[in-house]
Amino acid sequence: MNIKTKLSLGLSFLFAVILLLAGLGAYYANRLAAESKEVLKDNYESLEYGKNMLQASEVFLLADTSAYPLAIKTFETNLQRQLNNLTEVGEQEITLSVNENFDALKKELVPKKDQGTVNSLIAAIRQDVFQLTDINMQAIVRKNNVAQKTADRVIMYLVIIGTFSILVTLTFIINFPGYIANPIRELSESIKQIANRNYEQRLHFAANDEFGELADAFNQMARKLDEYEHSNLARIMFEKRRIETIINNMSDAIIGLDEKNTILFSNNEATLLLGLTDADLVGKYAPDVALHNDLLRHLLSENGQEPLKIFDDGKESYFAKDVIGIKSPTTATETEKVIGQVIILKNITQFRELDLAKTNFIATISHELKTPISSIKMSLKLLRDERVGSVNPEQQKLLEHITEDSDRLLRITGELLNLAQVETGNIQLHCRQTLPKEIIQYAVQAIRFQAEQKQVKLETNIPNELPPVNSDLEKTAWVLVNFLSNAIRYSPEQASIIISAGYVTSASNRFVRFSVQDFGRGIDARYKDRIFDKFFQVPDADSIKGGTGLGLAISKEFITAQGGAIWVESELGEGSVFSFSLPVG
Ligand code: ADP
Repeated sequence: MNIKTKLSLGLSFLFAVILLLAGLGAYYANRLAAESKEVLKDNYESLEYGKNMLQASEVFLLADTSAYPLAIKTFETNLQRQLNNLTEVGEQEITLSVNENFDALKKELVPKKDQGTVNSLIAAIRQDVFQLTDINMQAIVRKNNVAQKTADRVIMYLVIIGTFSILVTLTFIINFPGYIANPIRELSESIKQIANRNYEQRLHFAANDEFGELADAFNQMARKLDEYEHSNLARIMFEKRRIETIINNMSDAIIGLDEKNTILFSNNEATLLLGLTDADLVGKYAPDVALHNDLLRHLLSENGQEPLKIFDDGKESYFAKDVIGIKSPTTATETEKVIGQVIILKNITQFRELDLAKTNFIATISHELKTPISSIKMSLKLLRDERVGSVNPEQQKLLEHITEDSDRLLRITGELLNLAQVETGNIQLHCRQTLPKEIIQYAVQAIRFQAEQKQVKLETNIPNELPPVNSDLEKTAWVLVNFLSNAIRYSPEQASIIISAGYVTSASNRFVRFSVQDFGRGIDARYKDRIFDKFFQVPDADSIKGGTGLGLAISKEFITAQGGAIWVESELGEGSVFSFSLPVG
């Protein structure tokens, strides 16, 4: 039975109880009223008539006959009314007897005859009237008893029905709110459980009503959510395990941090390198752990782009640090924000070893090549000497070519050797107080012949009062020569090249800046950052052959080794300004 029907039935029952009580009350009240009315009509009036007749009869005992006609009339009227109100058993005979006696009495009274007969007739009449009164009195008592009984019965009925109704209504009042409210409360509790992701929550309403249907629908929903959650969870757990396995098996050390620098995970390699266990790391505030761990402190610090040398696996290993900020994806409501970072330590030992092997190889080769090339040059010089023997013009040309090529070979081997020295850390600086002018003169001297060949004009712009710098004259001049030879190479014929120097002071440092400005082809902005890289040459269809892409890389090493800086400003098609600065000694 559904709730609607139950509610309708309950309220109908209460309505029926009220109707029954009201009907019963009205019916019995009516009945009691009718009975008392009957008593009034049937008996009380007879008593009244009897009393009036008795009073009238008393007049006849008096000698004064003038009052007789009125008394007779009164008696007659009351007798007549009594004759019309014969309700009790025996009342009729007595009334008729009164009537008979009264008829006889009237004859005796008008005209008045014998007082003795009158008296006896009056006595008979009074006797009868008393009897009438008695019968009616008895009837009143009897009827009163009946009415009393009816009233008692009514009270009893009302008490029984009332008690029953009160009990039923009380049960209704006590149970019905709970009947409606309890399932609703249980439902809202269960919904809260579902909101807290407790999808195993179920409702158990035994009733086969709307609440039963509600419970079925709710349970179905919870079951579906549970299935969804479990299938999702299983998939997510599987994916998580897979990613963890991948991260753990990587040869790079990986540490994940959240936005508050709490360590979220670290793979096997990372725990091994840090010399800590997972329990020491995961869930801990990274700076706290770093207090007792040098490597982690280094990893968390901002600086440290240099490869890290770590003693790992019984040998020295090199690691490059890479920090990747993790950003949450932008959603409709939230903008992108940093939610953590991943620190990756790439094991670059192998590359370092290869690089070192390559550098050593280059160093050896270039060193070994220097001697035979020098001897080739020597032989060439001898060959071109007239005293050794004359050569025809064609041979002369060939000899010039060979000389040029061997010069180039010597330059390349020299540069390679320099680079190898720089890379192996074997760079030897012989720093001393050197005047900028001295360095520039040294370089201009070295490049003069090359400039003259291309008819390039070298202009110098050097203030007289420049302080000396603490530098290795030869290496710094080498850098300047490299700038100048590039400037000549990339300038058109008869162009100008300006060599300038200047004193630069800042709050903490004092420098001397050296610049070489040309008006050649300039450098595309795209390549400006890369021209100081090893073996980098600006890609160009009509590129000028003969370079190695090492000059600027070596220049950078020489200058930074002396605590200076190197840079270029250039505009494509308008020329370039290559500069370096050295600290004042
Ligand atoms: P290279 O031996 O090839 O000159 P460098 O390291 O000295 O090697 O120079 C690297 C590259 O930078 C060159 O290949 C060239 O393309 C570019 N470059 C250097 N100097 C200049 C310059 N003054 N004007 C234009 N391009 C230049």
